Amino acid sequence: MINLQLLGCSGGIGGPAHRTTCYVLDEHILIDAGTGLGELSLEELARIDHVVLTHAHLDHVACLPLMADSVAEMRSTALQVWALPDVIDILKTHIFNDQVWPDFTKIPNAHHPFVTLHPLPENGPLMLGPWQITALPALHGIAGCGYRVQKESVALAFSGDTADCPAFWEKIAHDQMLAAVIVECSYPRRLADMAQLSRHLQVDDVIKRVSQLPEKVAAIVVHRKPGLETEIEQELRAALGGRDLRLPQHGQIYKLS
Ligand SMILES: [Zn+2]
Ligand SMILES: [Zn+2]
Repeated sequence: MINLQLLGCSGGIGGPAHRTTCYVLDEHILIDAGTGLGELSLEELARIDHVVLTHAHLDHVACLPLMADSVAEMRSTALQVWALPDVIDILKTHIFNDQVWPDFTKIPNAHHPFVTLHPLPENGPLMLGPWQITALPALHGIAGCGYRVQKESVALAFSGDTADCPAFWEKIAHDQMLAAVIVECSYPRRLADMAQLSRHLQVDDVIKRVSQLPEKVAAIVVHRKPGLETEIEQELRAALGGRDLRLPQHGQIYKLS
């Protein structure tokens, strides 16, 4: 069984209803580290061993440097961060650079640092205990990816932030283990131009792709921009009414088997 908690699943901030992308798998693995991460207690933060990032936009990494600092003294092993090689380079150059934030990959010393940054394996999935994590294609205008996450014989697919990406949907179309796809939908139909400009999905993109998935696959729609949630939900439900369509708030827990 997969235990997935959405600590943050909004496309932005604005009051207690909005936390940006951060998901927990069991208790030890994060997918992205947006402002939702601030929902965890200090003890819960210290139990996170791995952070797997889709891309380096701030709404997905904002709390990573803060977390590294908060839990540093509580952990005996490094917090391990995994991402595409280009995303790792961005973190080194623009975040852990001793200017925006201390370089925790060298603190307290380079042999036993608080944080280690790892490019995803080139051949085959990242194996973290019972979890098998594989990058999936995304189109977001910068280095980035989605993920397929598998534990035992259950799999989830995360779109990450992306424009319509045929290769992503091709990869998951015949996945017999797939229980759910967590797909972004940042904009309603009337803001399709903005979606295209910012390399995000809008309602019609999501309808087109989700309606082609097998019925048993749940569609969990995330990354709705603050203030646009209701409009997006109404448009999606009108077109995908018969499907297992979920529009979560942060804090939602899914047990998928
Ligand atoms: Zn983004
Ligand atoms: Zn985002």
